[in-house]
Amino acid sequence: MQYISTRGQTAPMGFSDAVLTGLAPDGGLLIPESIPDVSGRLRRWQRLDYPALACEIISLYSDIPSDVLTSTVREAYQTFDTPQVAPVVAAGPVHILELFHGPTLAFKDIALQWLGRLFEYILQQRHARLNILAATSGDTGSAAIYGVRGRRNINIFVMHPHRRISPIQEKQMTSVLEPNVFNLAIQGTFDDCQSIMKSIFRDLEFKQRYCLGAVNSVNWARVLAQMVYYFYAAFRVMEATRAARVSFAVPTGNFGDILAGYYAVRMGLPVRRLVLATNENDILARFFNTGEYRRGRVVSTLSPAMDIQVASNFERYLYYRLGENTEQVRSLMDQFARTGALRVPLRSGRVDPLIVSRAADRAATLSTIQRYYENCGYLLDPHTAVGVFVAEQFLDPDSPMICLATAHPAKFPEAIFEAVGLDIARHPVIESLKGKPTRCEVLAADERAVRDYIVHHAG
Ligand SMILES: *Cc1c(COP(=O)(O)O)cnc(C)c1O
Repeated sequence: MQYISTRGQTAPMGFSDAVLTGLAPDGGLLIPESIPDVSGRLRRWQRLDYPALACEIISLYSDIPSDVLTSTVREAYQTFDTPQVAPVVAAGPVHILELFHGPTLAFKDIALQWLGRLFEYILQQRHARLNILAATSGDTGSAAIYGVRGRRNINIFVMHPHRRISPIQEKQMTSVLEPNVFNLAIQGTFDDCQSIMKSIFRDLEFKQRYCLGAVNSVNWARVLAQMVYYFYAAFRVMEATRAARVSFAVPTGNFGDILAGYYAVRMGLPVRRLVLATNENDILARFFNTGEYRRGRVVSTLSPAMDIQVASNFERYLYYRLGENTEQVRSLMDQFARTGALRVPLRSGRVDPLIVSRAADRAATLSTIQRYYENCGYLLDPHTAVGVFVAEQFLDPDSPMICLATAHPAKFPEAIFEAVGLDIARHPVIESLKGKPTRCEVLAADERAVRDYIVHHAG
């Protein structure tokens, strides 16, 4: 499979190059040149366990030798605390797809545990090194660190805003002591971290000299690994309910998770609806209801991993929505960069017959957590609660609703306490962080300081 850019001005490249490249040189995002139709294989795939299914799906999009694929996938998912990897449980009117059984208790482990191993293989083949630079406001940083800790030929530098992330998230990152992991606490905001990162990446000479790479959600391998659980969960729920198709509700920030579901549908998975749920940062909900994508101001919420206004994976969706017309993508994205807004024409009053969307505010999030705890004895994390709240508005007896649970509630004990009035959000992984030694460098919010640090530690 070759990969092309959504903006059409980058020469096609193979899978490994696409994984190492991140953003395409023309500013677009890399996408597969075609999407395989797998509808004839669904019956056979239904019998596979999670790692075997992952290998089938990934092999359609990559040229990684099958023994390497099998071993990297099996190893990645052995770090999960259940052999099912992504179990589905019923709760009230919905099915919960638990994506938090990996080492950092958030769905990003599903892609990043595999991506760390994939990077190691590709770098070994090429006798190359990689220095990953990332900025995080929480979940991505810890999942990326856990994905590459101790791996050969890779260092990771993760910036987080000093004392501005939750104590649990900080401890998860800084208690990783492997010598290839560098935590940088930046004396500024998350935006400062991100602008330092972008500015360093713009210096192409520095980027090349120090082999800098990114692990953010524009990386194609992340989207690819996430497709697997849509198939896996649909199979489990179709078996259990005898339904011929299902719907999914996805708590959304950067559009990476739901994009994987969109690919699964285009590959032939029988899905009635994708329900896109946002918190108060509702740029995507507004878009899917009006056709206008307009940047707003970011507000902090109980679901911080979704506190995003500009969704980095949105351009991939836009490419398909515009009929794969790269010229139109380029012109709309240019317009968005200039004016902070773009618009697509509606069809029968809708942006997309598949995707419906609403936002959930703070009160809705808290009351949903409380209700599911009281009525079903199931504790939702605040991100998942946003998805469940919106999902309930689109229930339909013919297509069971699968709600993606993107984090374990123990990562967000304050929100859980506020919702149910009890200190019950616990997990042994979080308990075990207490008393662990930590390592972290505090740096000024200054690009120079971060560059110097990389120069001295990149190896
Ligand atoms: C990253 C994240 C999300 C949002 O996923 P996107 O791919 O950015 O849409 C939702 N919930 C949790 C817990 C996350 O960590």
